[in-house]
Amino acid sequence: MKVVFLGPPGVGKGTQATRFSKNHGLPHIATGDLLRVAISKKTEVGLEAKAFIAKGQLVPDHVIIQLMSKRFQLPDAALGYVLDGFPRTITQGKALADILSNDGAQLDRVIYFSLEDDALKERIVGRRSCPSCHSIYHLRYRTPPKDGLCGACGTALMQRDDDKIETVEARLAVYQNETAPLIAYYKALGLLTEIDASGNLDEVAELVEAVFREIDHEVLSD
Ligand code: AMP
Repeated sequence: MKVVFLGPPGVGKGTQATRFSKNHGLPHIATGDLLRVAISKKTEVGLEAKAFIAKGQLVPDHVIIQLMSKRFQLPDAALGYVLDGFPRTITQGKALADILSNDGAQLDRVIYFSLEDDALKERIVGRRSCPSCHSIYHLRYRTPPKDGLCGACGTALMQRDDDKIETVEARLAVYQNETAPLIAYYKALGLLTEIDASGNLDEVAELVEAVFREIDHEVLSD
C-alpha cells in the first residue's frame, strides 16, 4: 500500500502517519525528518536545506526529489509506505508519479487533512518534538512528560525553530501557494479523500482507518 498524507503544517499528519504506519506495518517516510537528520549530520543535502527550512521556505525540488529517490530504493520501501510531507509541489507530485510508474506501481490513496488556519497555528506553536526518535508532543493535547524528556527514548524534547510563531505565517503562505494545488491535482486523478482534522488524535485516526476499511471493502467486492 502506497499512501500520501497531505495537508498544511500543523494539521497532525505526522502524528497520524506514525500511528497508521505502526498499525499497518508500513514505513513512515517523513521528508521533514529526513532533512532534519541530514542537517544534524551536516551532509550535503543538510547544508543545502538548512537556510530554507529556517525561513519556512520549501527546499528546492531537485534536492527533495534526489533525497526521496534514494529513500525509495531502501528495501523497506518495496512493499509500500506512508509519505508525510512529500510531495509538496506539483513538480514533486509528477516526479513521484514517474518514480512509481518506472516500477509499474501507483499510489493507492491520498488523504488530505483539512483544518482552518487559527487551529493550525495553535497546534504548531504548542508542538514539542523529539530530535532523536521524532516523537511528537503538544503542550495541550499530548502533554510531554514533566521532566521534558521524550517518553519513548529519553532524549530532551525541543521546539523546532521553524515551529516558532515568527516562521509559522511564512510556512502557511508557502503551503497555500505551493502545496495546496496538489489537492486539485490528486482529486482529478480520483485519488483524494478529504478528512476533517479538527477532532482529537483518536477521532482523526478513526476517520483515517475508516477510509482504508472502505478501500479494502471495495477491493474485496470487485
Ligand atoms: P515538516 O517537518 O514536514 O513540517 O517540514 C519542515 C520543513 O522541511 C518544511 O517547512 C520545508 O522547509 C522542508 N521540507 C519538508 N518536506 C519538504 C518537501 N517535500 N519539499 C520541500 N521542502 C520540504
